[in-house]
Amino acid sequence: VDSIYRTRSARGGGRRACRTIRRTGGGAVWQLYIGDIAGRTAEIPQLLLLAALRTGCLRRARRGCGTGVDSIMLVEDGFSVTSVDASDKMLKYALKERWNRRKEEAFDKWVIEEANWLTLDKDLQKPGDGFDAVICLGNSFAHLPDFKGDQSDHKLALKNIASMVRPGGLMVIDHRNYDYILATGCAPPGKNIYYKSDLTKDITTSVLLVNNKAHMVTLDYTLQVPAQDAISLLCSSKFRLSYYPHRLEAFTELLKNAFQGQCQHSVLGDFQPYQPGQAYTPCYFIHVVKKTG
Ligand code: SAH
Repeated sequence: VDSIYRTRSARGGGRRACRTIRRTGGGAVWQLYIGDIAGRTAEIPQLLLLAALRTGCLRRARRGCGTGVDSIMLVEDGFSVTSVDASDKMLKYALKERWNRRKEEAFDKWVIEEANWLTLDKDLQKPGDGFDAVICLGNSFAHLPDFKGDQSDHKLALKNIASMVRPGGLMVIDHRNYDYILATGCAPPGKNIYYKSDLTKDITTSVLLVNNKAHMVTLDYTLQVPAQDAISLLCSSKFRLSYYPHRLEAFTELLKNAFQGQCQHSVLGDFQPYQPGQAYTPCYFIHVVKKTG
């Protein structure tokens, strides 16, 4: 679904940026933004993988995969991976990679499905008692808006995602440090752990309050698109994405409720151990939840 690319509102001024993404293909611009896949996979959560392997949790994984950038790393590492995303435009990159590498057994077995978190129970068949790990990274979950104003969609989506984890399995899900963004009006300085694209020139932050409550954060990205890419992709150098600003404490509560309290929960900041009040301000919070029930 392309409607995931929400702007400030479903109608009105933000539409123009939205159309730019549709016309150019969200996946293509995204690939440019996230930069070199090899660069990203080298940086990716080794800590997380090691932790999961140590607990013997991770044999199968699934996630909101986007263009498949992290899934590819897991497939290459020999995990049995099911990747899901609600956007066929994003999935097409994962599908293309699977096709190109289909002679490698691991890629031949890689399952890629179009599925929406809100209807996951219908869109995706759960294997046995569930997946060993469900991984949803890259600030993906924050793309789900709260149009009803009561976070019921967030609760439903998290319940659906949590239901896919087997007892004893892991859910790993992240969001940007919106506490910092809401307190300061800007994203924390420092490197982005996910997106290494050298093309990012500027990110402008806007916060939308509804009844004095933070309802949406809009990031306007300006990329330095090389001339040849701009021509071949008909690519605009600007794009806009909007997110629900999940706060650390509130999101932790949502997660615990999704598991009906039957879980152990811990938080990492940029994949490092995190202590509230610590000197270093993480750009991302990564929640690691082990299902105990
Ligand atoms: N995780 C990838 C992609 C991040 S973009 C990366 O880090 O590069 C966020 C992704 O979440 C998009 O591909 C979008 O299609 C997906 N998404 C947003 N809402 C969704 C929903 N309701 N169900 C499933 N996927 C969704």
